[in-house]
Amino acid sequence: MDEHAAYFNDVATACRRCGLCTTAQSESGCCQIDYADFARMMLDAIDRNEFQDVTDPVWSCTLCGACTARCPAHISAYEFIHRARCVLNPLQPSIVRRFAPMRTDLASSSFKQLRAAHKPAFPDALSEAGTCERLFFPGCSLSAYEPELSASAFAHLKATNRADGVSYECCGNPLYFMGDPVLLRQLAQSLADKLEAHGVTEIIVACPSCYSALLSYRDDGILSASVAITPLPVVLAQQGMRACPDALAKAGFDTVCVKDACRDRSSGVFAASVREILGETTIVELAHNRRSSRCCGSGGLVPLYDTDASDDKRWCVLQEFDDAEASCLVTLCANCSLALRQDGDTNIVHYLSFLWPSWRER
Ligand code: SF4
Ligand code: SF4
Repeated sequence: MDEHAAYFNDVATACRRCGLCTTAQSESGCCQIDYADFARMMLDAIDRNEFQDVTDPVWSCTLCGACTARCPAHISAYEFIHRARCVLNPLQPSIVRRFAPMRTDLASSSFKQLRAAHKPAFPDALSEAGTCERLFFPGCSLSAYEPELSASAFAHLKATNRADGVSYECCGNPLYFMGDPVLLRQLAQSLADKLEAHGVTEIIVACPSCYSALLSYRDDGILSASVAITPLPVVLAQQGMRACPDALAKAGFDTVCVKDACRDRSSGVFAASVREILGETTIVELAHNRRSSRCCGSGGLVPLYDTDASDDKRWCVLQEFDDAEASCLVTLCANCSLALRQDGDTNIVHYLSFLWPSWRER
């Protein structure tokens, strides 16, 4: 608690009260609190041991980072909200229980259940004996929600001699969102131990959130500094993989919008390489794209805490897509695809769908 209070104190001092974050929050349709006020609210709550006022702002934040992406004081919503959740987690068991399906450290997690139902086409290399130098890491959402795409991507990487094995391990993000540092550390360490035991030298990562988490483990020394972490679309773009405009036109997709991913805001590496893969396809940019992209509403476990807050964000993205008048919305992240397709839209597709044929069967 002291460590978090010290952090909130630092934020209260560092925040210049310029209002850039509250403008972004207002555009994102969420709470409007600058981080000096938010930090003081957290400190006051800790002092009084009374957390009612901060509960909603903390648990209904999708950790999209839109508010602090341009913060001149470099305050990170991602870190702030995680720390606030670390404070609330032990005190609010009835809220934390709602996140049980996302306990990826347990066999009962919904991702593991979904994967078991689909029976992955390839075994998990980290559960098998032997070494695996270059590992494909699809992440929970792609492997559970888009198992054919996950399998097609690995089959391609294997056939082009770019990966030796695949693993369906979790990067730990759901535990980070839950504000449980002990479980998070255990999961991250267990993953790092398995990677080391299998001699992994490169991880090819499909999901922007997993990419960000694995980089942070390497920065923190949990993962060896010698392990390369490479985004999947970078590999595919370098290999010259391109969406075929004729096939898209045949499916009725003549123009596309790209729904960028929240965790890709700072580097933009997924955004750039997916646009490279889209090649000659006509892209109509959403009003908020790349660094300023809006959230699909599925982040931060918010759908399990406040469905309305999650829906509001989803509708903002869908409205921008409507306004752009393109025929297809391409996502970089399988979580975004699932969240945005809730109303049955068949013209919202993951970019990998443009490289392998299964998407035509939808
Ligand atoms: S953008 Fe940063 S410095 Fe400006 S008010 Fe928000 S948290 Fe404070
Ligand atoms: S949902 Fe996004 S814009 Fe709103 S407070 Fe959280 S990180 Fe900031």
